[in-house]
Amino acid sequence: MTQAARCFHDGLVSEHYDVIIVGSGAGGGTLAHTLAPSGKRILLLERGDFLPRETDNWDPKPVFVEGKYISEDTWFDSDGKPFQPQVHYFVGGATKLYGAALYRLRPRDFTELKHVDGISPAWPLSYDDFEPWYTKAEQLYQVHGNAGEDPTEGPRSAPYPWPAVSHEPRIQQIYEDLAKGGYHPFHAPCGILLDEAQRSRSTCIRCTWCDGYPCLVHAKSDAEVIAVRPLLDRENLTLLTGAEVTRLETDDSGRTVTGVVVSRDGNREVYQADIVAISAGAANSAKLLLNSASDAHPHGLANGSDQVGRNYMFHNCKAVVALSKEKNDTVFQKTLGINDFYFGAKDYEWPVGNIQMIGKSNAEAMRGEKPKATMLAPEWSLSDVAKHAVDFWLTTEDVPTPGNRVTTDRNGDIHLAYTMTNNAEADRLYAELKKILNHTGMAEHHVLRKNFYMDMSIPLAGCAHQAGTCRFGPDPATSVLDVTCKAHELDNLYVVDTSFFPSIGAVNPALTAMANAIRVGEHLLGRMS
Ligand SMILES: Cc1cc2nc3c(=O)[nH]c(=O)nc-3n(C[C@H](O)[C@H](O)[C@H](O)COP(=O)(O)OP(=O)(O)OC[C@H]3O[C@@H](n4cnc5c(N)ncnc54)[C@H](O)[C@@H]3O)c2cc1C
Ligand code: SF4
Repeated sequence: MTQAARCFHDGLVSEHYDVIIVGSGAGGGTLAHTLAPSGKRILLLERGDFLPRETDNWDPKPVFVEGKYISEDTWFDSDGKPFQPQVHYFVGGATKLYGAALYRLRPRDFTELKHVDGISPAWPLSYDDFEPWYTKAEQLYQVHGNAGEDPTEGPRSAPYPWPAVSHEPRIQQIYEDLAKGGYHPFHAPCGILLDEAQRSRSTCIRCTWCDGYPCLVHAKSDAEVIAVRPLLDRENLTLLTGAEVTRLETDDSGRTVTGVVVSRDGNREVYQADIVAISAGAANSAKLLLNSASDAHPHGLANGSDQVGRNYMFHNCKAVVALSKEKNDTVFQKTLGINDFYFGAKDYEWPVGNIQMIGKSNAEAMRGEKPKATMLAPEWSLSDVAKHAVDFWLTTEDVPTPGNRVTTDRNGDIHLAYTMTNNAEADRLYAELKKILNHTGMAEHHVLRKNFYMDMSIPLAGCAHQAGTCRFGPDPATSVLDVTCKAHELDNLYVVDTSFFPSIGAVNPALTAMANAIRVGEHLLGRMS
């Protein structure tokens, strides 16, 4: 543990808190931030440590090629084959490495949507219900954006707190070309602490090491910087790092969590609170519940419905690199989005998805991601490829299915069974991207030697957008959590990470987790008052 407001050492600890939060990422960190001003005694348990600030933060070799910040966990696929999941155990969770694209779900994402491979179910709350918390989350995480450009976005009760991050010249050109072609490109919502009006005073320096890297200068709106760090001097907040929660114990009735069992520095510790909120990430929260089986909950805690771990989603994504003759000198590339195909395409009835930019390619990172990429460009070195690359991220919604699930084995380890859905929609999105590149000087018919495309599909291990596993809903037979994100079967157990998502939409999930954590936090404040 490198830093904590207060901590305890060794043995059985009987300290009693008002609230224990497990996990300090988008959900848990934001919940702690929402609860802390009340003065309630909060224990924040985080299995990771603070992510070290070091030059490696901004070096593609350690970050992408060597995977320095990826956990050493081993998970298993449905055939029992081990793999290293790309999960990040730090104060701030996955947001320490995230791209900080902070999107709201679209209003129709909250309703039932039919997809080529099944149904994306309706949420028990509407977009309008969620809107006030989206606004609060955008304000907390200082989201930069420009409302009104994207026809799929929902109504807002407040503008973005910060103006949109400007496009650099190559991206501005693409923006204008697309607009001329009749599309509706928009400024992507970004959570970076950039003040473009006063660059000399800006915390963010607008560098190229953002998407997938930790921010060395703490200028990314991640859950550590925004939510947790400002709480560290508070008397009523205790953060324990290196504290892995391994089990939740209940009273005999099974209705109340009475002990949060922690493994820390090789010791077993037990903590108690009136309310326990878990936010360990969709896979790890399911793992914790499943590993907490008892006589009262023989199939896992809160799992009488057999829903815990099911309906795991993580998006059907592609990273696509388009190469053109002209160089792309963009430094911070993640400023453009296109939702023209979000709910369908010409003569295509199914939702297709979101197109956005990702961090600018560089030769080192490409070497890590796809060693054979240059086979497509035999005359170009990886550096040439990187200099000419324009990088897109394509996201299609995957539908929740009961068979896509987390289970645990007798050792308590995660097994992840996952079959991708909506491949036809994802293929269509890729085809639409190629079409729109016609308008941007990266046309399909210019492919061949100087313009060509590579795609990098995201394998199972890339579980960055994991969600589902404990969905919320009114019916205890089909959901794990009620509408307040309290477990149906318990009186004091909540889940506030992306586990609660009944469906995932086709935009990045973090803002929805943050908004929901504020919503649940406000509910808890009411409950404890
Ligand atoms: C490379 C990358 C890029 C991404 N880019 C974007 C983006 O641009 N926009 C976006 O919206 N989303 C993005 N995401 C996804 C986003 O980061 C996640 O959706 C979000 O962080 C999920 O929040 P969470 O609270 O569910 O989990 P996390 O933020 O992962 O938090 C879970 C926390 O629980 C801790 N933990 C786990 N198990 C235990 C345990 N047993 N005991 C104690 N602590 C535990 C973990 O260490 C972690 O700190 C990205 C993710 C990655 C990895
Ligand atoms: S662009 Fe800004 S927020 Fe992102 S890594 Fe660079 S300095 Fe940090």
